Amino acid sequence: AYELPTRNFDLVNAAGARIPLGLKSKSLRVLVTGGSGFVGSHLVDRLMARGDNVIVVDNFFTGRKDNVLHHLRNPRFELIRHDVVEPILLEVDQIYHLACPASPVHYKYNPTNVVGTLNMLGLAKRINARFLLTSTSEVYGDPLEHPQVETYWGNVNPIGVRSCYDEGKRVAETLTMDYHRGLNTEVRIARIFNTYGPRMCLDDGRVVSNFVAQALRKQPLTVYGDGMQTRSFQYVSDLVDGLMRLMEGEHVGPFNLGNPGEFTMLELAKVVQDTIDPNAKIEFRPNTEDDPHKRKPDISRAKELLGWQPSVTLREGLPLMVSDFRQRIFGDLKEGGS
Ligand code: NAD
Ligand code: UDP
Ligand code: UDP
Repeated sequence: AYELPTRNFDLVNAAGARIPLGLKSKSLRVLVTGGSGFVGSHLVDRLMARGDNVIVVDNFFTGRKDNVLHHLRNPRFELIRHDVVEPILLEVDQIYHLACPASPVHYKYNPTNVVGTLNMLGLAKRINARFLLTSTSEVYGDPLEHPQVETYWGNVNPIGVRSCYDEGKRVAETLTMDYHRGLNTEVRIARIFNTYGPRMCLDDGRVVSNFVAQALRKQPLTVYGDGMQTRSFQYVSDLVDGLMRLMEGEHVGPFNLGNPGEFTMLELAKVVQDTIDPNAKIEFRPNTEDDPHKRKPDISRAKELLGWQPSVTLREGLPLMVSDFRQRIFGDLKEGGS
């Protein structure tokens, strides 16, 4: 139903030599926590395509087995239903730690960020695996610096409605650096900015999935507040590319991974109207507390040290997501399977 844009996957090592990510000598054992979720399942697709042995650990809190169904019969793939809040024993070379309820409607209910991250760091330490944390732009809170650079410490309310997510990820970053400094665990930290694409949860309340589902269902697009707050939207294949470069590269980070294109929510609504239905109505709703006014990544560090930058614009990426959503909402067979 949709094709993810593929990019040249080369990494540049410290000596300036290009290492093709697709052509490694030995296949790695890779654990992806949260691998049946939106981002995780796209990452799993790339790792499987590269020939790795992939273990997904997921409790299906927001993820879906459907997202990885196409790998179930592959002997290089293993799916384990497990909550990372409980300890687990595995033997792998790399751990991509994504398990986390990532949308506002879900994340209030779960201590995954702190306890789950601690367990995965304990696992990484025991087996000498390289550990990558998927942190978030939310660690910058309602930022007083714009765009956000990795050296900015953020402006986060510790007791607000969003705090368990923001502060949870901040603690996760702290734990990750403590294991790195104190216990020599090899770590990588990505700070991910708003990401969209096929397989996003349909009704998780995030703005791109809300607008797309609403436009397809002929419902009004719900704009919170005055719609002048900004976000930067990254297509999922760009993010997966960045995560793999970070894991394979030599730098701990943190690295901002996001698309610097900045849109107000009203501008986003316009792109959705242009893509799906020019007659879609807009309905204003009261905004939630502590909603960041602006967000846009400074990605100079990732450009310089990882040789990474996003390549898919919102107007290119949105139609790929729309065809996936259309199929899931209407079961539209004309779109074909994926
Ligand atoms: P998602 O909800 O689709 O994926 C999260 C996955 O983790 C799901 O499959 C869920 O079932 C699983 N999970 C949740 N709690 C778990 C637990 N306790 N044990 C085992 N599995 C558990 O979300 P996503 O958008 O794919 O996010 C992946 C990661 O990227 C998250 O860590 C998130 O914080 C981070 N991130 C995402 C975005 C974004 O815009 N998508 C932005 C910033 C950061
Ligand atoms: N842990 C795990 N799998 C392992 C090793 C550790 O789940 O293979 C968990 C362990 O149960 C603990 C956490 O990771 O809750 C931190 O482990 P670590 O050994 O770093 O700390 P300690 O157990 O010494 O407090
Ligand atoms: N938002 C909106 N309408 C919606 C959902 C969200 O206008 O239906 C706004 C929300 O207030 C925020 C922005 O879109 O300003 C991004 O929200 P999202 O939850 O997607 O991501 P985050 O706030 O975590 O960046």
